[in-house]
Formats: sequence, C-alpha cells, structure tokens
Amino acid sequence: MRGKRIRLVTGLATALALALTGCGGGGGDQLGGGGTEVTVDQNAQFEPGTTMANLKQQGTIRIGTKFDQPLFGLKGLDGKPQGFDVEIGKIIAGRLGIAPDRIEWVEAPSKTREEIIEQGRVDMVVATYTINDARKQRISFAGPYYEAGQDIMVRSDDNRITGPESLRPTGAKVCSVTGSTPAEEIKKYVDEANLVLFDVYSKCADALRTGQVQAVTTDNVILLGLVEQSGGQFKLVEKPFTSEPYGIGIKKGDVKFCEFINQALTQASQDGSYAKAWQATAGKVAKQTPPLPQLDPCS
Ligand code: GLU
Repeated sequence: MRGKRIRLVTGLATALALALTGCGGGGGDQLGGGGTEVTVDQNAQFEPGTTMANLKQQGTIRIGTKFDQPLFGLKGLDGKPQGFDVEIGKIIAGRLGIAPDRIEWVEAPSKTREEIIEQGRVDMVVATYTINDARKQRISFAGPYYEAGQDIMVRSDDNRITGPESLRPTGAKVCSVTGSTPAEEIKKYVDEANLVLFDVYSKCADALRTGQVQAVTTDNVILLGLVEQSGGQFKLVEKPFTSEPYGIGIKKGDVKFCEFINQALTQASQDGSYAKAWQATAGKVAKQTPPLPQLDPCS
C-alpha cells in the first residue's frame, strides 16, 4: 500500500515537473498556461504621434513581465513566458495590430519595474504589479485588470503559522522580494532580522524547501502557483490581508496610452477574451473566473 502511494505521488511529481519544463507535450497543461489565440487588429488606426501609432508603425512592442511566476508569467524552454499577465500583454498588443510573435518579452523582477519604464527599456509592464501612490510618483498605471491579496505560504506540515499574527510569536523567518509591496507590509508583523529578501519569488520557494525560512509572503495568486509547483510540499494559509490591484505600468503621464489600454481591457472583458485568458492560465488552479475590476481614471 505504502509503496503504491509513494509511486503515485512520484508519478504526480514527475507529471508536474514535465509540465513545468514544457516536455509533457500538452502545452495547455503547463503551469504558465498554454495561452490563447488573440485577435490581431490589422486595421487599427491611431492619432499620429501617440505611443499607439509609434508602436503600430514599429510593428513590435517590448513588454516587461515575470519569468519565474507560474500561472502569471513563467518562462518556458522555448524562451517564451506564459501566464495570465502574458495573455493580458498579448491582448493589448493585438489591439495595436501586433501579433504575439512580434512581442519582445523582458524579465521585470519587482524592484526593477519603475526603472525599466522610466528608462524606456520597455513599452509597458504587466507583472503582478500593484497600483499604489508611491509608484505613481514615477510611472502611470492602466487598469486594474485583477485584484489579488497578500497571503502566506508555509510547508504543508506546518500548523503553527496560521496568519500574519503568528509570524512573530513563532519566530519564523519570512521570505519576500525586494521592491514588492508585501515585503513592506510584512514589516508590521516580523522583526527585520527575520525578514529575508531575494530578487525573485522562486528563490523564496527554494529557501522554504530547504528550511532556511519558514514562510513566504506575497500575493495569494503568486503563492498559489508556487504551491501548485511544489508537488504537495507547500500550502497557503489562505488569510489574505491586503488588497493588491494589478495595473499595467507605462511611462508617467501617457494618458492616451492608458486610455487605450483601458479600452482594450474593457473590450476583452466584453468579448470573452479576458475570461478565456484566465481559464487558459491562472484558472487552471483558481477556477473562479474573476470579473474585470472597475478601471481607474487615467492621469
Ligand atoms: N503585487 C505586489 C507588488 O507589485 C507583489 C508581487 C510582485 O512583487 O510582483 O509588489
């Protein structure tokens, strides 16, 4: 019995590993999500001089996203990222008349996002990027296109950490990412000596696996991807304690581009491509398709 169970578990782990490396054959089963066909609007017309007109004329767009976050942005062996953020990027590019294979994907770890937008190294960032006032000092946001909440991930056999309040009493070392909103928020609940910061979340997952930290904190949907990837080793405490509205980062003050993106999101919500994008990616784990949140005015 025991032997059989172990074999089954190993089988599942292998299936997951295959899915992750993209060797499983069924692209749609990958944790990044297999992706969808998007509409490429060849007849799109834009006012000369706008970002939209320039991008359309160039025929390419540089989009910053995550490369190590299953379900939202996970780079496959083919060099292309997959996930809900990637689908949102493809939908917007399509509205500009740019096909998915003309998108240049740029890795955008949390701390670098404002900088790469300011320096013009990307045209937009779609990367689990919370809209907030501090960031709005440097860049502008379209959206929000999704709303997450900060949560905590622990090892599956850990029953002592049940929410942010139990972090200090248990003396847990907690991992998050530099330049992220969760890394700031969690300082209310843990002493800085117990806060471990890396540049990307996959390193936090490794640290949890090896026991160097007892908890990882960031948005619930990011953690959900890491839980799924862990083959049963990790779990979520499932007590979201913040609101993280995800926006699309663009050059500060580019109101016309922001309005264009918001229009593309509204259209995607109405024509079903937003739901399709969710179902093909994050929806493989988070089954409930979210509605498009109320969009913020562009400024
Ligand atoms: N949404 C949060 C943020 O933008 C956490 C996720 C991330 O680091 O990408 O900071």
